[in-house]
Order: sequence, then C-alpha cells, then structure tokens
Amino acid sequence: MNTDPPDVAATVARIAAVVGPQGIITDPRDMEPYIVDWRGIYRGVAPAVVRPASTAEVAAVVGLCAETATPVVPQGGNTGMCGASVPHGAGQIVLSLARMNRVLDVDALNNTMAVQAGCVLADVQQAAAAADRLFPLSLGAEGSCQIGGNLSTNAGGVNVLRYGNTRDLVLGLEVVLPDGRVWNGMRSLRKDNTGYDLKQLYIGAEGTLGVITAAVLKLFSRPAATATAWAAVPHPDAALNLLALLRRHCGDRVTAFELISRNCLDLVLRHIPGTRDPLEAIHEWYVLADLADSHSGHALRNELEIALEAALEDALVADAVIAESEAQARALWRMRESIPEAARAEPGMLYRHDVSVAVSRIPAFIREARVALEDLFPGVDVICFGHLGDGNLHYNAFVSGRYRSDATAREAHDVTDLVYDIVQQYRGSFSAEHGIGLAKVDEIRRYKSPVEIELMRTLKQALDPRNIMNPGKVL
Ligand code: FAD
Ligand code: ZN
Repeated sequence: MNTDPPDVAATVARIAAVVGPQGIITDPRDMEPYIVDWRGIYRGVAPAVVRPASTAEVAAVVGLCAETATPVVPQGGNTGMCGASVPHGAGQIVLSLARMNRVLDVDALNNTMAVQAGCVLADVQQAAAAADRLFPLSLGAEGSCQIGGNLSTNAGGVNVLRYGNTRDLVLGLEVVLPDGRVWNGMRSLRKDNTGYDLKQLYIGAEGTLGVITAAVLKLFSRPAATATAWAAVPHPDAALNLLALLRRHCGDRVTAFELISRNCLDLVLRHIPGTRDPLEAIHEWYVLADLADSHSGHALRNELEIALEAALEDALVADAVIAESEAQARALWRMRESIPEAARAEPGMLYRHDVSVAVSRIPAFIREARVALEDLFPGVDVICFGHLGDGNLHYNAFVSGRYRSDATAREAHDVTDLVYDIVQQYRGSFSAEHGIGLAKVDEIRRYKSPVEIELMRTLKQALDPRNIMNPGKVL
C-alpha cells in the first residue's frame, strides 16, 4: 500500500514524465535491491527509484526535487559499508546512476579518461587496459561498485600506497547541484590554480552536496612486470621496518603492503575452500607485498629476493615465498581478500573498526588496543589485517561464540568506544576507508572538533540550503 502523501505521488508522476518508463521503478519488489544496503543492516522505503539516462535528465529530476523539497539519495553500485546509499526517512527518492555507464573519451597521450558516473569500476579498469594504460583503483567490490560511488566515498583499496586514494586519481568532475543546475568541471589539466578546488568538495561527500554525473580520471603506465611475496614477520614492528627496507631497495615499485595476523589466516584456512598455508611453520604475523614495474623481465623478482634476503639477515622476516606465477600470486591475494568472508562464517560477534593512524605508530597502536581490549573483554580475539603501508587497519574485535547470546548493543558500544578512544589518542581516524553514512554519525559528533563540524555544516548549508541531498547522512 502506498502511504506517501499525495504530493509525493504527484512529484513521482512528474519525474516519470522526464525519464520515461525505462527510467523509473515503483514496484516494491523491483525496488528491493535499491533500498537495502550491501551488509543488509539498513533498510529504507522509497516512493520510487529513478534511473536517468543523461546528465540533462539528472538535472531535470533534481530540479523537480528541489522545487518540491523531495529528498534525493544518489546511488551507485550500493556496495557501501555505512548505509549511505539507501533511503532513511519518508518520501526519499533513490537516484541510481546505473544507466549512465559510458566511457566518454580515452586520451592516452594525456593519460586521462572521461567516464560517466555509473561506469562499473572493473569496466573503467578494462577500458584503461584496452588503451594500454592503468587505472589503479582496485577493491573487492570492483565488479559492481561504480566510479560515482568510488568518488563519493573517496574509496581506497589495495593500491593506495603507490597511487593514492580516489581523490588523487581525479582531474575533473561534472556535478548536478541540489538546485538542478549543472557544474561542468570536466577539465583534464594537471595544473590549474584558479581558485578553490571545488571538485575535492564533492569527493568523499557521500552524496550530501550534489550528484556526480561524470569525471575525468588519471591514467598511468601499465606495469609490465609484477612480483608478489608472502612473508612471515615476528611482530608488527618488524613489518614496519620491512616496509622501510623494501622501499630502500625498490623505491616506488612497492605498490601494496598488507599486514595479516595469524588468526586471520586460520579463519581463511578454516572457512575458504581450496586455501592452504603458504609457509610450513606457524607464524604470528604475515606481510603480503606487491612490486610493479613498467619494465618487464626477471629484474623485479630478483630485486624482491635480494630485499627479502637482507630482511632475513636483519631478522625482520622469518620465512617467505615469492609467487612463481600469476596463478600463485592470485592465490596469495585470495587469502588476504577472503578474510572478511571467513570472519563472517565464524560463529561469534565481530566488531569492525576501519581505522588509521600514522604508519610509524601502527605497531604501538596494535599493542595498546589489544591490551586494553583483553583487559575489558577476557577471551577477545583481535582479528587484525589491512593496509599497513597506508596506516589503515581493519582492527576487528572478535568475541567468540560463548558471548554471542548475551552480546548486547552495550557491549558493541563499549568495544568500539574503547578502540576509537585509543585511535583518538593516536590522532588517528575512526573511519579510514568506508566513510560515515548512517553508521558513524555518532562518532563524527564525538570525535571531530566543534570547529570542524561547524565548518562542515556551513558548507552543507551553503551548497544544499534545503537539505534535499542524502539527508541524515554524514552530519
Ligand atoms: P554506493 O554504495 O552506491 O554509494 C556510496 C555513497 O556514495 C552513498 O553515500 C551514495 O549516496 C553516494 N553516491 C554514489 N554514487 C553517487 C554519485 N554519482 N553522486 C553522488 N553521490 C553518489 N571500500 C574501500 O574504500 N576500499 C576497499 O578496499 C573496499 N573493499 C570492499 C570490498 C567489498 C567486498 C565490498 C562489498 C565493499 C568494499 N568497499 C571498499 C566499500 C565500497 O565498495 C566502496 O565504498 C565503494 O566506493 C562504493 O561504491 P558504490 O558505487 O557501491 O557506491
Ligand atoms: Zn580495506
């Protein structure tokens, strides 16, 4: 039964006239994939899901929403982790960019490509590869997340160490403003100091300031050779020093450097079929590292081997394997990438924290947070893995089965407050990769200074005075 007020129905009818029957969904069954988030935690309701086919249609739809004060929730691939991409409150329209999925232009000599916001990340990577270039953004959801969603969450992934976050991979944007006007900032310039860098405002804004409809992305040389190593390290301090050593030996060729605790590996071996321990003995910690170079050949593998031998001599590494083929490299990465899935399969409560601190302080943070957690929650397991090279850890507390039945919201708060308070003492971030959305609005109020919150509110008020863009998210 439709419980929306009649003016919402009238607005939906006017929107339908703009986008045509192909561009609108109102049947509740067909709207289902758009109103529940990827983790299945947040479920909203919507009078319609709108799927415009062009920037002009997006502008017309948002213009109508502005006129009628109808809230708009922009949506990409709906793979976000914070509930930001689904409606939250009555009468909110979901605006999906899925039909705007064209690569507009590839300029190989300028190392840029222009794409519509609804392009799936894997398709963007492929279009770059077809022009013998690399678009380096890479993450587990790349088969379904969209570049507009990546931009709006400033997505990270596994290549940040070498190429930066999404923010660093953009030269231009096209944005439909909350009043329906279009800002065409589709510049492909590497140098442009003509006032405020407006595009950076919309990147990481989680759809609260406007709808990104297109972008100009940076491309890079495609690596001709890669080398992958799985190394056992005695403790996180050794991992940190191994990173420094690798960089001394191999410079910028280090593209990924991931830290993995033994219990992560145990979970993977237990729950993910076809996996096996890459090393003979059991070790407490591991590093998974990638090197890449635009020159092909044996040199890269040799370089990695020499660096690892030096690390063995310095007792930074206890044992290591270098992948002998692409298939072996993929198998090693599969161990790392299936940790979240394996953790989900284990009975018990998992409290997830996607945090960052200065890279140099990672070992101290891991130690201090573990001691504090074990003190308060005897029997807790810290499932720690992530992008050590970026100072970003997925620092998860696992409270095993026996606690499960009496696990309460209180416990969740106690665990996360404890971890985030320590992060705060380290001047770190309580959300390094995944954003704020609905999930972390309490935290943003707790951990950002009043001045910072006030600046953010001032921007939101100036750019979206009627608060129609993704209301209730972030601030
Ligand atoms: P959505 O989930 O649809 O939307 C995310 C936010 O962006 C929402 O606020 C939405 O309103 C807004 N938005 C979407 N499109 C637009 C637009 N065109 N204009 C304005 N606002 C818009 N994230 C990482 O950073 N690193 C990882 O390594 C990583 N790994 C993941 C692995 C898996 C298996 C999964 C499921 C997720 C992972 N994520 C990761 C999280 C997620 O994939 C990213 O946040 C991704 O960038 C979201 O893209 P999306 O298209 O799915 O956006
Ligand atoms: Zn991550």
